[in-house]
Amino acid sequence: MSVQFRFELESRTMRCYRHRDCNEVTCVDGDDLVLLSNPNLQCSATLCLTCGMVPLDSVLWVDTDESVAQHRQCVRKALRSLAPGWVQWLVWFSGLVFAIVGGGITAYVFRTEPERGLIFAAMSLGAIAGLVLGFATGRTYRYAKERQLLRDRYNAEIHEITRVIREG
Ligand SMILES: [Zn+2]
Repeated sequence: MSVQFRFELESRTMRCYRHRDCNEVTCVDGDDLVLLSNPNLQCSATLCLTCGMVPLDSVLWVDTDESVAQHRQCVRKALRSLAPGWVQWLVWFSGLVFAIVGGGITAYVFRTEPERGLIFAAMSLGAIAGLVLGFATGRTYRYAKERQLLRDRYNAEIHEITRVIREG
């Protein structure tokens, strides 16, 4: 049973949101619009012209009345479903491979260390560092792949997604 998503798209360079608490409408374009729209980019607050920085769940896109936070979540799920399964696995695989390499390199560097506990501790740290780096690398690839698929199939950028409709 797989969930299907449909995108409502609009070629845009600007989009406006309304702050729930004060009703002020603020419009964003360029990098700000991309940052707010792309769930793969870290963003938790935005500017309300009246109130200053406010959380993303307190502002609603004017054209859909959906909160910016909610929209980001929907877009994230839909983008994920766009990419083939192996792209998801690649993130884990990349984490695992980097962890093994990190552990291996650390073990090699500490190979003459007489204290075995110290070798083990260093190896663990090396493996953890590798895991983190591997995950980051895999995710960077996944994000690029998702953007590419959206371009190829829909000729659209992430900030041009107006709404995600769940089907099935
Ligand atoms: Zn406000």
